[in-house]
Amino acid sequence: MRTAVKGARTMETFTCTKCLQVLSISEQAKWRPTRCRPCIYKAQKEWRYNNPEQMAKAVARTKRQHLRIRQEALAIYSGDPPRCACCGETELTFLALDHIEGGGTAEFLRLGVAGSSFYAFLRNNGWPPGIQVLCHNCNQAKGSHGKCPHVLSNPN
Ligand SMILES: [Zn+2]
Ligand SMILES: [Zn+2]
Ligand SMILES: [Zn+2]
Repeated sequence: MRTAVKGARTMETFTCTKCLQVLSISEQAKWRPTRCRPCIYKAQKEWRYNNPEQMAKAVARTKRQHLRIRQEALAIYSGDPPRCACCGETELTFLALDHIEGGGTAEFLRLGVAGSSFYAFLRNNGWPPGIQVLCHNCNQAKGSHGKCPHVLSNPN
């Protein structure tokens, strides 16, 4: 259904198959929706409620995938086994990616890519340079003081 709006532009609309509301399709939509957002959320909620086992499996799968891609990223940017570029910490739980200033990832970080999607983003972009592996201690110290105390006490 096409409804004319101001000027030459037209706006696509659709009818939610559940609540029968007529809504406009957002310009970002990649496909024609069949239900409105609240109806989709409600259906998802009901599905989760009715399928707790599948839900738990799906959550575990996402967790495993996240862990795998995280380990892959740490190994790419650090080595095997991954370690903190500053203090040499090797405990995976403490390690995270750190953006080296002036690196090519500044552009990506500006886009607001964070968390697990950041790892996926890096992989999808062929692991761009400008990333190092730091432990949370060194990362935080670098973030609040500009330099980690390790570096300050040991300039080499
Ligand atoms: Zn609806
Ligand atoms: Zn460290
Ligand atoms: Zn350090």
